Order: sequence, then C-alpha cells, then structure tokens
Amino acid sequence: MMIEKKDKKIIYVLCLVLALTIAFSAGIISSKNNENHNEQGNKNTTLEVSEKQTQNTTQATETTNETTNDIVTQATTVYELGTINNPYIITINESQWHLTLVNSSYRIPDTYEPDLVAVCGSEERLDRKIALEYEKMYAAALNEGVYLTPCSGYRSYELQERNYNNKIKFFENQGYSTEDAKVKAATIIMPPGSSEHNLGYAMDIVCVEEWFENTDEFRWLTENAADYGFIMRYPKDKQHITKVIYEPWHWRYVGIEAAKEMKEKNLTLEEYLGVTE
Ligand SMILES: [Zn+2]
Repeated sequence: MMIEKKDKKIIYVLCLVLALTIAFSAGIISSKNNENHNEQGNKNTTLEVSEKQTQNTTQATETTNETTNDIVTQATTVYELGTINNPYIITINESQWHLTLVNSSYRIPDTYEPDLVAVCGSEERLDRKIALEYEKMYAAALNEGVYLTPCSGYRSYELQERNYNNKIKFFENQGYSTEDAKVKAATIIMPPGSSEHNLGYAMDIVCVEEWFENTDEFRWLTENAADYGFIMRYPKDKQHITKVIYEPWHWRYVGIEAAKEMKEKNLTLEEYLGVTE
C-alpha cells in the first residue's frame, strides 16, 4: 500500500511539473509573439511617420532628401549652443557652404581665411564663389540701367573687432552697462567673426543708408536678387529674429534655390535653417 501511495505521489508530481512546463513554455511563446508583434507595429508606425515627414519636408522645401538632411544636420549639430556671451564657433559644411549661418551667437574662427577676389572692377572683394554670382547679377541689372555699385564687401576679423569695440564704448559712454552695450552694439556692428562680411558672403550695395530703400537699385534687388541667389539679410519686420537693425543695403548669397524659397515664404536665414531663439 505504502509503495502504491508513493508511486501515485510521484506520478502526481511528475504530471504537475509537466503541466507547469507546458504552460510556462506556452506563456513564453505567447509573450514573445506579442513582443514581436509590437516591435513590428512600432516599426511600421515609425516608418509611416518618417515617410510622412519626408514627404512633407520634400513638399515644403522642394529640395532633395540629401539637401534636406544636410540642412537638418547642419542645424542640429552645428547650430545648437551659441549665445552672444558664449558664441558657438562654427565649422563650414562644405556641401552647404552657401547656407553657412553667422550671427552674434554663431561665429567663424578668427583664423578663417576666405578665398577673395575683387568684384566688378571695384576694390571691394567677395569670396571667389560668390563674386562670380554677384557679377552676373550686376550685369543683369546694368542691362536695365540699374547700377548695383559695390560699396562694402569683405571685412577682416580685426577690422570687425575694432569697429565692434568702438560701438560698445559708444554705448557705455551713453550709460549702458558693458553687458547691455555689447548686445546693443551687436544690433548695429556685428561682433568679430559673426559678420557675413567676415565670411565674404555679403555685399553692402550702393551705400549703407536707409534711404537706399527708395532707390531703383533697391526695387530691382527686391524683385530680382533671389534669381541670382541673393537675399536681403536683415529685413525691417524680422529684427526680433535677426537681432540686427533693418539694413536694406546688405545682400547675402545663399544660393538660388534657397533664396527663392526664402523670398516666397518671407523667411530669414535663421528661420530657413530652423535656428531661432
Ligand atoms: Zn553689410
């Protein structure tokens, strides 16, 4: 009797272990299936979102994926830390050089040396790549009797530094704290390394006076400059974004495609690149 009871117990325990093993295995398989299913679901969702985002971006910017990615890369990896007191020293993305952003928060290093050439027989110089584009625009305007006379092109880092420091002193003498004087000065004279003139990418055309906005040259530029890749960099209605005073005379090369889109959508370079504070 004792032996029979013992056997029954063993059989019962074995059955229990077997049942638990089967149940456990089934549970594991079931759990894994769920995980796989969820992973697949997430991937599909992510893919859909990515595709939608890509489609939207492509439709919005009318650029190739490669260009869009480069802009995004530039905007997210290069332009992310700068402030006027702690400016970010940028490196130029060779494939997107024409979209290089400099302002009081994002600056080129003091060692930067552009490849310069004089423009339209003047003494004013621009980066060689841009000088050619300026001359095309100059010739087109001249053909309509409009003179886009170069007034101020490239400026050295050292000259920019002297001008900026003088402007800081000017505001300090008016009673501003050094901190406020720096910010105030930067709206008029960009800090060294943050001016597009230090890059050789911009030309002040005809003069540096606000009355320029009432000239035929200004009207011609407003209508046609984008077709040659130039934008008015510091518009009147965007001073809160550029942090620079209205400068109808300052025209910056960004490439034809970007210039046309920025003009059409009324975007500054900061807005175009998605780098606004
Ligand atoms: Zn300028």
